[in-house]
Amino acid sequence: ASDRQSVLSVKDLKVVFSGFKALKGVDLEVGENEIVTIIGPNGAGKSTLLDAIVGKSPVASGHVYYHGKDITNQSPYEVARMGIGRKFQNPNVYNDLTVFDNILLALKGAHGVFASIKSKLTAGKRDKIISVLDRVGLLEKGYSKVSSLSHGQKQWVEIGMVIAQDPTLVLLDEPTAGMTPDETHLTGEIIKTISQNHSVVVIEHDMEFVKQIAQRIVVLHQGEKLTEGSVNEVQSNPKVIEVYLGR
Ligand code: ADP
Ligand code: MG
Repeated sequence: ASDRQSVLSVKDLKVVFSGFKALKGVDLEVGENEIVTIIGPNGAGKSTLLDAIVGKSPVASGHVYYHGKDITNQSPYEVARMGIGRKFQNPNVYNDLTVFDNILLALKGAHGVFASIKSKLTAGKRDKIISVLDRVGLLEKGYSKVSSLSHGQKQWVEIGMVIAQDPTLVLLDEPTAGMTPDETHLTGEIIKTISQNHSVVVIEHDMEFVKQIAQRIVVLHQGEKLTEGSVNEVQSNPKVIEVYLGR
């Protein structure tokens, strides 16, 4: 990412859960409009890394810099306000509302105010919502209730809710979990579209998906960064092969 403006810079990050070292000194760099994919076996510390970045897991030592500003151990609310959007593994959407209204609720200033769904809808907001729906492939589903959507489509609604808040950096934890192969592929295309306007960090298992989206891959194992590089570099790395073949 050396030729890009740094968005996120994680330095020697350590997270300890009552004596258990979940992260043992991890570095991570994310540049402007870059997609970084994090892979690694279960328990490697992938989710913990995202949690630590957004202030959900306490950082024992090390630093998280966002646009050069030290945000280590800031509150999740503060981190979100500064422009880091996080999507969790399970969709957190309003099933009884339309896709459109879900995105509206996520817009800055509108969140949580159900009563104002219709009254607060300005032309600017409407255009914004349509642009978000377009980017997450849900333009034709805008007036459908979320409850009528497939599992994959619900995940896209939530990605839409994240990008509606105009984050600079989007963090996605296993966005393709439970998806069909077609949905997984479409999610890859959505992430590539999103990366035109946002930096993206994706935790992922599916190697086909990783190949589809990845510019740079970071491999975590037992709380440490094993290696990072292109798909080919990572796949041919003997340490990675050993971890994945399980010896
Ligand atoms: P991954 O996302 O790579 O599968 P996690 O980051 O969820 O792994 O977990 C890394 C390790 O830290 C695991 O051993 C997990 O059990 C442990 N861990 C994660 N969160 C907590 C927590 N809140 N308290 C105690 N241990 C935790
Ligand atoms: Mg995880």
